[in-house]
Formats: sequence, structure tokens, C-alpha cells
Amino acid sequence: MPTPLINVSNRLPVTVSDRGIKKSSGGLVTALEGLPREQYDLTWLGWPGGYPAPDRQRGIEDSLREEHGYEPVFLSKKLADAHYEGLSNSSIWPLLHYLPSYFKYRTEWWEAYQQVNEIFAERVLQIAADGQMVWVHDYQLMLLPRLLKSGNPTLKIGFFLHTPFPSSEVFRCHPNREALLEGVLGADLCGFHTFGYLRQFRNSVSHMLGASSEITTIRHDGEQTQLGVYPIGIPAAAFEKEMAGPAILEKLTRLSAEHGGKRLVLSVERLDYTKGILPRLEAIELLLARMAQPERDAIKFMFISIPTRGGVDAYRKLRESVESRVGAINGKFATLHNSPVHFIHGSVNFTELCALYAAADVALVTPLRDGLNLVAKEYVACQRDIGTGGEAAADVAGAPEMASVRATPGALILSEFTGAAEELFSAIMVNPNSPEAVADAIRLALDMPPEERRRRMLPMRQRVLSYDAEAWASDFVRDLSLPHPPQSASLQLSPQPLLQAAIRRLRGAIEAGRRVAMFLDYDGTLREIIKDPFTAKPTPDLTELLDNLVRLKNVELVIISGRTTTDLDMFLGNYSRLTLIAEHGGAIRRGGSLRPVEEKWERLDTNLTYGWKAKVLKLLQLFERSTPGSQIEDKPTGLVWHFRRADHEFGEHKARELVQNLSNLTANDPIEIRRGRRIVEIASTLVNKASAVMRVLQEKEYDLVLIAGDDATDESMFRLELSESSTVTIRVGGGETSAKLRVATPSALRRFLRSAVSLSSAVA
Ligand code: UDP
Repeated sequence: MPTPLINVSNRLPVTVSDRGIKKSSGGLVTALEGLPREQYDLTWLGWPGGYPAPDRQRGIEDSLREEHGYEPVFLSKKLADAHYEGLSNSSIWPLLHYLPSYFKYRTEWWEAYQQVNEIFAERVLQIAADGQMVWVHDYQLMLLPRLLKSGNPTLKIGFFLHTPFPSSEVFRCHPNREALLEGVLGADLCGFHTFGYLRQFRNSVSHMLGASSEITTIRHDGEQTQLGVYPIGIPAAAFEKEMAGPAILEKLTRLSAEHGGKRLVLSVERLDYTKGILPRLEAIELLLARMAQPERDAIKFMFISIPTRGGVDAYRKLRESVESRVGAINGKFATLHNSPVHFIHGSVNFTELCALYAAADVALVTPLRDGLNLVAKEYVACQRDIGTGGEAAADVAGAPEMASVRATPGALILSEFTGAAEELFSAIMVNPNSPEAVADAIRLALDMPPEERRRRMLPMRQRVLSYDAEAWASDFVRDLSLPHPPQSASLQLSPQPLLQAAIRRLRGAIEAGRRVAMFLDYDGTLREIIKDPFTAKPTPDLTELLDNLVRLKNVELVIISGRTTTDLDMFLGNYSRLTLIAEHGGAIRRGGSLRPVEEKWERLDTNLTYGWKAKVLKLLQLFERSTPGSQIEDKPTGLVWHFRRADHEFGEHKARELVQNLSNLTANDPIEIRRGRRIVEIASTLVNKASAVMRVLQEKEYDLVLIAGDDATDESMFRLELSESSTVTIRVGGGETSAKLRVATPSALRRFLRSAVSLSSAVA
């Protein structure tokens, strides 16, 4: 039985118009169609282009599904434009390509981007069976992996980014950077063209989300995302077939007649500002100025400039600038015999493209940034069979006439800033930002002896022909289907049946009117950790859950936190039925059936002295000063050094140093040094969450006790010697624990609690 695979890209490889459905080709189509059918059953989901009237959509949907296995997602023009031309191509694209000066942003684009990702998610979730593989492509759908994972955690989700990923200093310019990164991290496997992009992505995730990572693994909220390098290839067999076929000959002969005797320098690309067309024209002008007239007359710079993103201002302006620059150069250097720059704003068909590649003495590929650049690989694939020298070359191309075009391989000039540069390392590498360097490279290429061109081309051809589009797709899908590297014991989540059994126990107890006590930590347990701890008020989702919990008359709900009494009053003060415990057990504000006559905080740490605080504070102040972004919090029962706003790596380094210093300084004091999430806490050993829990449990008897927490400060509660049959303990997220159950995230804990109370009727 073939494995089902859902492929999702912004565009389906078709265009729907009033004239019907036109299928398009391209690297991704060939790559996916090359996956063995007996192994994979492929469904492709995406926008089909065009805006057919609603009464035509059903018919189009049926024929796309039946004829091609495509699932079209129809979008309104307004939504599609704001998503694609707006946020995708005017905000995300320029940043991914290190060109923030082209960055534009509108809130309504971001809303459309979210909406389109949600529409896609809904459609995928409708058709995906549990455990199925879903492969999501590119920057237009960065929110999709997370939406899919939340909708169905059993899916195996892959994400491939076809562009570069920039330095975190550039990516962080994006107003929605965290949401975009979190969106991608919904994937189990995330692929890039180069290791450089992978590393930059990991840096951004570490700086902006604070997730920990190793070379190819990111851990976050108890989940993990594998990272991998998969440079995309070209449909090599299709190129070889075309080069060996009869049609190419006619095209080559025509080209030869038209440009006979001239050296051809070729550029093929979408008319995009990332491709470096203007600096390239500057280099060409420089070179032409250095040439003598006869040589100028014997050279042709051909540009195939494929129309693209005409709806985006920057692209319209670029076209005007390029055309005027080409006009100026030709005006300056054209003679009766030649006009040196031949600029075509349009497309060529596959045979014409192969003929141009085969005929070109030099391919000039100089993008400022490019995720990979397929044109460079295609040019290499269309060079004569050079393994056995010039004679065989003419044979492969099929005819002696071709020798009049060029019987030896051409030379590839390639920008260092393309993903392909890592694979095509024997190309003539240039820095596209230097017109001087590009002009020199063209000179070098034109003068390069055939032997050297051959020597350089051979390893490139081997690479391009063997690691092709099909190999790329099958490598990625193979890795996606692999079981993940086993999670370490400290990350293993409780299996669903165990969690379901605990939910049934809790629900049963609540419904039977038995007395239940819940001790729930706040940050990282009930609520997601955020960068600014002072704004972590309950989310609407949590508020709704708390509202439901406090209505249960037989449930004593206790929020037990390391926060100050002021913080807890601020976030949860208006729940009079809630019992609050602050400062890890330093103070209690009783609520519910524990409520005293007056609602106020009572200290649980009277009789304790904190003589050690002054000297510890002095040390913390030194660390606060030397670690920008860190902050001291002074609590009655202890001190906390927060570094979640500091640079992730530097903060961790300083925290290690601080713990070392503290151990020496306080060796004889009754204190505990705790490393929490982005905090170092120094607290009295005489005050802790466990002793506070015991205080509450001694006041009244309970039939069932639920305890949930997420970090080291909660472990004292899990270790309490309570009867196993009447206790449920849950750890949220990773880390060593004595709790009996583990869920991945605060939202998973909220789901757990919601399931336990949803059917309960024992409300006050
Ligand atoms: N191409 C095209 N129409 C043409 C000439 C070329 O679609 O008239 C193709 C070319 O063969 C290549 C692709 O456009 O496969 C460009 O891919 P590349 O990776 O070089 O750049 P991108 O457009 O993805 O930025």
C-alpha cells in the first residue's frame, strides 16, 4: 500500500482562467511527480490561481481532483493579493533576502496572511488522516505547520524553505517574527538549501523564542523539530532527453544563424531585485568600455527576464530602471554591426531555453541573494558531454552542425550569495556587489581555455545530474517518514490512555461530589511563558477555564506560584473563590471554602530570618550590571535574578557563573539556589511550595489532590508523600521530574483540565 502524502504549496502547478485549466511545469512538479507511485500516494493542495465564479468552482475542483490529484483552495482576489503580493512578497521576501530597504508592511496584509494560512489548515485537516505525512512549502505558509500540529498532533509535518534564511538581526525586523518562527516550529522536520540558512534559522529561534537547540534539533515546549539540509535539484532526465532530441538542433541552428560568430553571455531569471540585474548591467558597461570596438561587436549579452509580481510596486519600478539602463548602454555602444545587450522581458519555452544554455559561452548568474538558483544548475546540465572531450561532445548534441555553435563546455559565473554556490564550487565565483569583480570574471570566462572550462564543468555536471529534483524530494520524504530520534527520558510525554484515565478519575470525583483540591503553578503551567513577565495576565482561554473551575463547589482551586503577592493580586485578584499562594509558599490568600472573614494575605514564614539577603543582593547587583537585559526581583522570602530579556547565550553563560559564585558565598546559609527558566532564584530552604501544600491539606481533608507544575520549584510538591491512589501529579514540559504524568505545554494542561470539568454538573 503506498503511503499517503499531502503536499501543500501556495500555488498549485496549474493556472485556472476563463479559457480552462493550464498545467505548468517546474522543479517542484518534476520532483514530486518523480516520487515512486508504488511508494507514495500524492495529493497536492494549493491555490489554483485565477478567481473562477463560485458556480464554476465545483466543476474545476472535480476535474483537478480526478485528473491530477490536486485539491484547489479558492481565495478571493482581495485576500490572495494581500497575502501573496502584500505580506509574502513585500514584507517577508525582502527580509529573507537581506534587503530590508524593500520591506513594506500593513496590518491588513498580516491579517490576510493569517487568514490564508488558516483556510489552508482547515482544508488539510479535513482531508488528512491521523498519522499522515504533510509537506508544506515556503515562506507564504509559515504559520501552517503550527496550525496543523495544533489541529491534529498525530500528523507528521515537514516544512521546506525555498529561500535563504537571513541573520537573526535582519529577520527580527519583521513585526510578526515570533509568530512566524513559532508557526514553522509546528513541523517535525524543517529543510533548508544550505547549512548556513539552517544555522541562521536556529539562531533566530534561540534569540527570539529562547528555545534550546543542538546542531540539527530544536527543542521547544516539550516538542522537537529536526532540521536538515536538502539543496533542491533540477529535473536532470528531462534536460538530458531534450538535449539528445531532434528539436534542439533546429533551435541551435537558428541561434547560430542569428548570432553567428558572436560570443554569447547569457542571463536568465525572474525580473526580481534580488537577482542583481542593475549591478550586473553596471559591470557589463564597465567591461564594454574596456573593450576595443571589434571585440565589442563580437559579443552579445542576452537577458531573458521573466515577468514576475507585476502587482508589486518595487517590481514595476525595477523594470523601468532596467529597461532604461539597457537603453543607455546600447545607445552608448551599439554600432551598425551589433547592439551589445539583447533584453527580452518575457519567457521562452523549454526547447528554446535548453538551446540558449547550450549555445551560451558564458552563463552570468549574479543574484545579490538567492535561496538556491536553478538556472545555474540547468546551464551546467546543458553543457556538452565533456567527460571524453570535444569530439564526443558534438556526438551527444547529435550533429556536427552544432560545432559551429560551440563544441566545448561554457563557463559559469556564479554569485557567492546563492545556495547553489556550495555545490557548484568550481564555477567562477563572484561578489555580485562589485561591478569591477563581475567585469573581471566575465573577462576571465571569455578568455578561459577550453581545457580549463572542461576541468571546471566536469564535477559540477556530475553533481547536478546525480543529485536531481527527484533525489531531493525522495530524501526529504524519507527523512520525514523516519521515526524521530528517541526523545530523552526527560521529554517523554505520557501516552494518551494514561492521561485519559487520569481525566476519568478527576471527572468521576468531581461529578460524584467528592472533595478535590487542585494545586496549580501559574507561569509555564497554566499560562505560556512570555518575554515580559509583568504582562502575563491570564489569556481569554485560561480565563474561561478558571471561570469554569471556580464554579465547581466541591473543588478547592489553589494557584501556587513563585510570584509576589502583588503580581498574583494583579493577575488573579478578582477571583474571590481562588486560593492564592505566593513566593513559593511565603504567603497565602485564602479563597473558596478556605476563605476567612477578611480577604487578605497571610504570611506563612513568620519566625524566619533572612540575614543572608544583603550579601546575596550585592552579588546579584554585580551580575545585573554586567548582563544587559537582566533584572533583580526582591521578594520577602528571597531574591530572583531574571535574564529572559538578555541575549540567550550570554544570559545562560552568566547564570552558570552566578550559581558558582553563589555556592561559594552562601555555603553555610539555609538557602536553596534554583535554576528556573531564565531565572536564578535564591530562596530560604525553610519556605517552599511543598510545605504550603501541606498547610492547606492539614486544614481540610480531600478525596483527590491534583498537583501540576513546570519547573524545579514545583518538584518539592511532586515529592510529597501523599497516598498514590488519591493524588494526580503532572509535569508540564521537559526536565527531570517526580510527577507521574507529563504533558507538553500549558495549552495541553488546559485541555486536560477542560476535559475533566467539561461534563461535570456539580457546579455551585
Ligand atoms: N524559467 C522559466 N521561464 C523562462 C526561463 C526559465 O520559468 O522563460 C525557469 C528556469 O528554467 C528555472 C526557473 O525559471 O527553473 C528559475 O528558478 P531559479 O531557482 O533560478 O530562481 P527563482 O525564480 O526560483 O528565484
